Amino acid sequence: MTMLPPPANHSPRPELLAPAGNREKLAVAVHYGADAVYLGGSRYSLRAHAGNFSDAELPEALAFAHGAGVRVYVAVNIFAHQGDLTGLADYLCFLRDLKVDGLIIADPGILAVARRTVPELPIHLSTQANVTNPESAAFWEAQGVSRINPARELSLAEIAGLRQRVQAELEIFVHGAVCISYSGRCFLSLYLTGRDANQGDCAHPCRYLYRLEEEKRPGRFFPIEEDRRGSYIFNAKDLCLLNRLPELVRAGADALKIEGRMKSLFYVGTVVRLYRAALDFWGERGLDAPLPPEFAAELAKIGGRGQSENFLDTSPGTEDMLYHGIVANPDWTPAAIVRQAGPAPLVEARNPFQRGDTIEYLDQGLRNIPCRVLAIHDQQGVALERANPNSLLRLTLDHPGAYRCHGLFRQQKRPPATKK
Ligand code: SF4
Repeated sequence: MTMLPPPANHSPRPELLAPAGNREKLAVAVHYGADAVYLGGSRYSLRAHAGNFSDAELPEALAFAHGAGVRVYVAVNIFAHQGDLTGLADYLCFLRDLKVDGLIIADPGILAVARRTVPELPIHLSTQANVTNPESAAFWEAQGVSRINPARELSLAEIAGLRQRVQAELEIFVHGAVCISYSGRCFLSLYLTGRDANQGDCAHPCRYLYRLEEEKRPGRFFPIEEDRRGSYIFNAKDLCLLNRLPELVRAGADALKIEGRMKSLFYVGTVVRLYRAALDFWGERGLDAPLPPEFAAELAKIGGRGQSENFLDTSPGTEDMLYHGIVANPDWTPAAIVRQAGPAPLVEARNPFQRGDTIEYLDQGLRNIPCRVLAIHDQQGVALERANPNSLLRLTLDHPGAYRCHGLFRQQKRPPATKK
């Protein structure tokens, strides 16, 4: 396909947009190079289990991010029932007064209230609104939307088609979990668990193991495919468009979004770091430069549930699903997060490790620094042989690095002991 040049307002340097499910994840996303973060307040936000930010926490979060030059978009993306509208205008004014950089909205009713109440705030259309064609994008733009996060089910050519039709910024998901339905159009979780995906409370039953049971033979399960353990009939691999970022930029993407407000702090940090390094690499070398092999090696260390480019070229096939329930388990496990910078950093351990072990520091950029743990001390100065999870510890390491606050350490998993 021949791609037309993007409109004049298109930025050649896309924004890297990261999830910030709570204060810790916000700090790690900022540390590893996000240009912007998206987060939820205590009200009107999907991802009910993401932690989210109370009204009291939001000012500090905004001050922290803005102090680092990072933009903050707040999700107000529930599909509102009538009762949800009570207090909405006050909440939007509260967000405006905090100087948030944009509102993420899916519901036309909330959009209408936002346009009336806080017209100065940019409105970003959530992927939940399922924009799948240029006319739909133009419709939302006419409603005052300044950025569109289209449905994840679009091809590269369709993204380019949106670009030709609207001036609004385009924000594209590049990494993270995907639904087997259009986002927001799934009642599987509500039906099976009572947890409503459209209120941000999805229990992800599309990842469950399914078996077939005949009505008159309760408890007798029939396998419905070749895996003896059962069938993961809906289980999609995760999205990963790392290698396709230049094409997305050329197609007109203004912002590249990482999914995962409910994902772990380590996931957020390592994925942001990887995409930051890739964007910086292409920013320096040009979009035609091939990505060096260390990027693939780093992606493998992050692990995940397998990787798919989803709909970017064509509709996903069987290779984009985890029908066997295989989860790509990384060989690496989180070890610690730096709480106080310095050559002998104060860290909070996340998993056990021992004196003498080698752990790896994830420096900004894609530089991994292996360090041998020479000594572990608790806060009273007592020497320890082992770091236990959640304890605050001073580490002496054989590598005299500049370990920065919010930096992460990880450790290679030990091979399982062989039976004698
Ligand atoms: S059950 Fe799966 S497909 Fe449905 S909303 Fe949840 S994650 Fe998406």
